[in-house]
Amino acid sequence: MGQSFALAQRLSKLPPYLFAEIDRLKQEAIRRGMDIINLGIGDPDLPTPPHIVKRMQDASANPQHHQYPSYEGMLSFRKAAADWYSKRFGVSLDPETEVLSLIGSKEGIGHIPLAFVDPGDIVLVPDPGYPVYQAGTIFAGGVPHFMPLTRERAFLPDLHAIPLQVLKKAKILFLNYPNNPTAAVASKSFFAEAVGFARRHGLILCHDAAYSEMALDSDLPDSLLAVEGAKEVAIEYHSLSKTYNMTGWRIGFGVGSREILAGLGRIKTNLDSGVFQAVQEAAIAALSGPQDCVESMRAIYKERRDALVDGLSALGFAVDRPKASFYVWIGVPRGRTSASYGSALLSDLGIVMTPGTGFGQHGEGYIRAALTVDVSRVKEAVERIAASNLKP
Ligand code: PLP
Repeated sequence: MGQSFALAQRLSKLPPYLFAEIDRLKQEAIRRGMDIINLGIGDPDLPTPPHIVKRMQDASANPQHHQYPSYEGMLSFRKAAADWYSKRFGVSLDPETEVLSLIGSKEGIGHIPLAFVDPGDIVLVPDPGYPVYQAGTIFAGGVPHFMPLTRERAFLPDLHAIPLQVLKKAKILFLNYPNNPTAAVASKSFFAEAVGFARRHGLILCHDAAYSEMALDSDLPDSLLAVEGAKEVAIEYHSLSKTYNMTGWRIGFGVGSREILAGLGRIKTNLDSGVFQAVQEAAIAALSGPQDCVESMRAIYKERRDALVDGLSALGFAVDRPKASFYVWIGVPRGRTSASYGSALLSDLGIVMTPGTGFGQHGEGYIRAALTVDVSRVKEAVERIAASNLKP
């Protein structure tokens, strides 16, 4: 028997792992020989475009790239990110001070509280939301205050409902549009309201735009930094993961306030040593090369979205057609909870979806489907539901 070691208390403050039951049921279904349709994971099923892979192959043979990279990223990468940003959003950035490379946007999201949050400080976190906002807060000794995202409010938080005592202790406001898990998008006017709010209350505004390029209709999502004055109080996280099918490569970047990025950079110099330079070279190829791969990615997700939304709507499900992201946020049939419905889909039909409560208590009543399987499998999932007693 090995010695046992007590885990630090901060780990016990994390919410319980709600996917454990789904994982168990999935293993069991596989053992039973069930054909699983996995709509659970937000990880693209398509490969990285070949011109990006080629650049990586060439760059990895260059000995210059075999040494430690700089934590803030190669200037050529930061320039490519700034050029891409300016072309896409019409916002100019100083690549030296207003762009920071990240080992995936998750890394920068998880680390930002370490730079600005002291024990007992509050961080404003959307619920439901990407779990890293909460985890990063807890690891820094901070306390999350959850802002409900409800369908009635188009999944935008009601900033004016946040109590004044909470605001006095709040340091960071996290937002995420296009949103995971609800797939909602935010308007320019909401971004302007959030920037004004952050300025009035001395908050650091962190906008997670990991899905900004995954527009499924004609409108491309806006940037928060396009709001006047945003650069003084805000940073925005961008990621190559979903845009270029590069989740495994681990590269993203933060843009915006030089002061906030410098704070995050202080943490990074002490904890990590940046992104492998060959990966940065590949990211330059992605950001400055042809963008038709992004267009075809959008068309593929759009077809899957329509197959799922049309199919489920016809069966009587409460489901909105998402304008962006590769998620569909589905109301579970009356009389079911998110967790019980998720379990039934899996054990009865072999369909994996993620219960809304895995993203926070306000996810109750919903289940999330990720459009990361071929359209024929999406249609098959709808057919299995149609032939079952799991429809509304
Ligand atoms: N932000 C959101 C909302 C996400 O859903 C994800 C990944 O699923 C990320 C950030 C992290 O992306 P990456 O670290 O791959 O850039």
